[in-house]
Amino acid sequence: MKILSGKEVAENLKKDLILRIKKLERSPSCVLLLNAQDSSSLHYVKSQMKLASSLGIQCKIIEIDEKNVFYKDEIYRLNEKEDVDGILITRPLCGKIKEKEILEILSPFKDLDAINPFSMGKIFMSDSDFFAPATAEAVILMLEYYKVDMDYKNALVVGRSVSVGKPSAMLLLDKNATVTIAHSHTKSLKTLLKNADIIVAAVGKAEFLDTADMNENAVVIDCGIHYLEDRIVGDVKITKDIQMCSKVPGGVGPITSMLLMKHVVDCYEKKYGR
Ligand code: NAP
Repeated sequence: MKILSGKEVAENLKKDLILRIKKLERSPSCVLLLNAQDSSSLHYVKSQMKLASSLGIQCKIIEIDEKNVFYKDEIYRLNEKEDVDGILITRPLCGKIKEKEILEILSPFKDLDAINPFSMGKIFMSDSDFFAPATAEAVILMLEYYKVDMDYKNALVVGRSVSVGKPSAMLLLDKNATVTIAHSHTKSLKTLLKNADIIVAAVGKAEFLDTADMNENAVVIDCGIHYLEDRIVGDVKITKDIQMCSKVPGGVGPITSMLLMKHVVDCYEKKYGR
């Protein structure tokens, strides 16, 4: 069974990104809006800062919490600020702040994870001028890098979240896969798993899917990441060999992080018409 590494894919993206950044007149810059009460967001943002600095991308953190009644004004200000190219909002947001309200006011031209309704609509219209949410894009890049043909294939996406499941399904459809989306009200998941050539696991439950239920030729991209006491696992448990399965950790995660940085450069280039 081939285990797919995301690090190789991310390194390739990085090389290209460094060349693009060298050609820009100023360093690209992004702002990460952080809910510091969420420890995993804090951890994530720190590693994203490190990555940005290794690429020469300016990266600033602004905390949003319930005490900050001006958080919407902050977003409007960042939307207009010339020297801010991209904005990433970490989720979950803190308690009373409504995700929908925030995502709707975020400029689609600075929305690094393509999560506002305008960006989402562009994905449904297959508009390649706009990028997709980074994890969904990472799924496709991983499949392309390892030369997995999606044309005519039965793809099963397990999960229908706005940031991972739904956009992954749309991007697979654009690659001519025949796509099924499973969720918590899906009957006979095992039958769907058996019939799928490509499986995207975005279920958010540790080792929920088992390769024993899959076709031996299946290719699995595991988006899950779960920190157990003694190890890190994905949404998939490998108990039987299949054709290919992505690594956790070191699979979709590093590609997603690099793509968010690529999106900063994409936003910069688009703003200045490059
Ligand atoms: P999420 O918002 O919790 O969505 C989980 C989805 O799984 C929901 O659509 C849910 O269905 C579905 N589901 C739950 N139980 C199910 C069941 N028994 N059978 C079938 N479907 C079921 O999670 P997410 O944000 O999409 O994230 C998915 C995974 O990707 C998580 O493990 C997360 O940690 C990971 N992730 C990784 C990265 C990365 O960079 N590697 C980035 C983002 C997320 P309903 O809609 O019916 O509730």
